[in-house]
Amino acid sequence: MIVAESKPFKEIYELVKDFSKICIIGCGDCVTVCHTGGQKQVEELALKLRIAAKRDGRELEIKEETVLRQCEQEYVEPVGNYVNDYDAVVSIACGVGVQTLAERYTPVRVVPGLNTTFMGAPVEPGLFLERCAGCGDCVLDKTGGFCPVSRCSKSLLNGPCGGSMGGNCEVSEDIPCVWSQIYAQLDKQQMLHYMDDIRPPKNWSVSTGSSPRKLEIKHLQMEKE
Ligand code: SF4
Ligand code: SF4
Repeated sequence: MIVAESKPFKEIYELVKDFSKICIIGCGDCVTVCHTGGQKQVEELALKLRIAAKRDGRELEIKEETVLRQCEQEYVEPVGNYVNDYDAVVSIACGVGVQTLAERYTPVRVVPGLNTTFMGAPVEPGLFLERCAGCGDCVLDKTGGFCPVSRCSKSLLNGPCGGSMGGNCEVSEDIPCVWSQIYAQLDKQQMLHYMDDIRPPKNWSVSTGSSPRKLEIKHLQMEKE
């Protein structure tokens, strides 16, 4: 899932301070699981903005909406019925949702209410940990299902650095050294010989930071035609 955290309220209030009619749109998917962008958070943000505006003696009309998935065109289509009635939209979806609204409803002003952080998993209530960096060339088959790209502080691919100590990463005692976890897992799987393999330099051209990536599923594209 995509993990996103709320922007500081002060920052959001600053983003909408010049508007008198805004619409807050949440998303019913990942950010609902994160408790940062679902229907409840839309209601909470609207209430806080109303209180802040009233305190400042400002008129602020707010519409509250949550769509099932803000990153998909079909789910944001109903937004078109009213979005032009507002000065701006505060999206509390991930950055994909914000951009879906901004592109579809240009030139409507769409501002982000969240900071999108990483792809991760909830490991206990209220705690999300990064699990994948979308490198485009997955190596989990050789690492016992633990990702060295996102979970090693240096994204090392050929075993631990010299700072691995007692199962922890040298960066912080709170961070497990993923190479220690990989070793333990491969040992349990009787696959420790993978630790001896030398992995050649990874093809980073398919990872983030190269150019905007795309995925084409030919049979779906043909169905569309
Ligand atoms: S190896 Fe790459 S694709 Fe696989 S989990 Fe890690 S970052 Fe994600
Ligand atoms: S201690 Fe382990 S997790 Fe930390 S940077 Fe070194 S190899 Fe990576």
